[in-house]
Amino acid sequence: MALSGLQIQKLLPKTNCKECGCNTCLAFAMKLAGKKAELSECPYVSDEAKAILGAAAEPPIRTVTLGTDEAAFKAGGETVMFRHDKTFVNQTGIGVALDDAMTDDDIQQRVKVLAAYQLERVGETLLSDLISIGFKSGNQKRFLDVLDNVATTWNRALAVRTDDAMILKAAAEKLRGRRPLLASATPVTVDELVGVAIETGSALAVAADNFNDLTATVEKLRSQDFRDIFLELRADSLCEYYQNNVIARRGALKADLKALGYPILKYIDTGHPIDDVVEAGIGIAKYASLVVLPEFDPAAFTPLLTLRQNIFTDPQKPIQVEPKIYPIGEPTEQSTTFVTTNFSLTYFIVSGEIENAGVSAWLAVPECEGLSVLTAWAAGKFGGDKIGAFVKETGHADQVKAHKIVIPGYVSQISGELEEALPGWQVIVGPQEAGDLESFVKNVLSS
Ligand code: SF4
Repeated sequence: MALSGLQIQKLLPKTNCKECGCNTCLAFAMKLAGKKAELSECPYVSDEAKAILGAAAEPPIRTVTLGTDEAAFKAGGETVMFRHDKTFVNQTGIGVALDDAMTDDDIQQRVKVLAAYQLERVGETLLSDLISIGFKSGNQKRFLDVLDNVATTWNRALAVRTDDAMILKAAAEKLRGRRPLLASATPVTVDELVGVAIETGSALAVAADNFNDLTATVEKLRSQDFRDIFLELRADSLCEYYQNNVIARRGALKADLKALGYPILKYIDTGHPIDDVVEAGIGIAKYASLVVLPEFDPAAFTPLLTLRQNIFTDPQKPIQVEPKIYPIGEPTEQSTTFVTTNFSLTYFIVSGEIENAGVSAWLAVPECEGLSVLTAWAAGKFGGDKIGAFVKETGHADQVKAHKIVIPGYVSQISGELEEALPGWQVIVGPQEAGDLESFVKNVLSS
């Protein structure tokens, strides 16, 4: 039975020491009741309280961390079925598989390329999260040497992949301190692996062919108090994979099935690069916490990272850029000033279009809480008075002599207000769509 915040608070130490990150024990209790915190975040919970709260205070899907420090990758922690219900918490990790049958030069080259790869999009740097190393050589020494080499040059999360328990145990020892993912324990090998996973601080994926085997194996781990689990339910088709992920998420969130409350792992290898991307995309959209691709290909990573960014952006917190005056190109005091909101997507589209037009200009971006142009205007955050005040407060009114400002066509109605707020400035109504900025600059501004 779910406990209320007040019921939970009665079981906490009530010292308000703040070590859990909350100002009071009551605040922490409310978070626990809402499944937004874990009991282990309070170091002072008594054994008696742990016994009572135990499962009641467990989040529906556990957050499992791989890797260390700032390069750590967090998976799981989700509390909703759909992004618009609230938000998704930890974005799907995207990894790449290597194996020890590859040559050393090949492996080093692949690690180097993946480590250097990054995609800049709407002000964020998007990266790959993990390398998985498969055991294919049949030679334990070779496998451990490869692990050593990769671990030296790759500081992000690592997984090792084989069903051979002996090899997984040796790998866990080798990667002690790196918090790797051992993929995977099966119903047959789980007893052999749990000890080493606990002892080395590794996470353990549980692989099974059906839900019965999967949940029975997870329950075995839970009975030994082991929780850093990934679920790897092997499927024969894309349809089954999708269904499995939905069933697991619904089971964890709606039916409170503790054995399904863990991040989902998917190794992808359809044999066809396009199908790999489709499968990874479905995993990102529907509940996989980690997808591992068989190869690194920027043509695959770009759409997948973009999809991931879109799905895992908090719908209540639009991505924003810093409110300020941005130079585009090399503007001077004679350059025109454009204005838009600080919603990242809008900023990057508008600045890109001004750049494409081949002119240098100023781009004034006032604080609009990350809203788009029309929404910000409707919310009273993008009126002529606000823009005028921003231009003056930033010193931009003294920085330029041209005193020409272009406003988005969608808010042409603010032009009079802006003229009043910025006396002596010429207010020009620009196009409604950013895509028309280039021709606007060439045909209107330059004429
Ligand atoms: Fe209360 Fe524990 Fe949080 Fe301290 S760490 S404020 S005792 S819940």
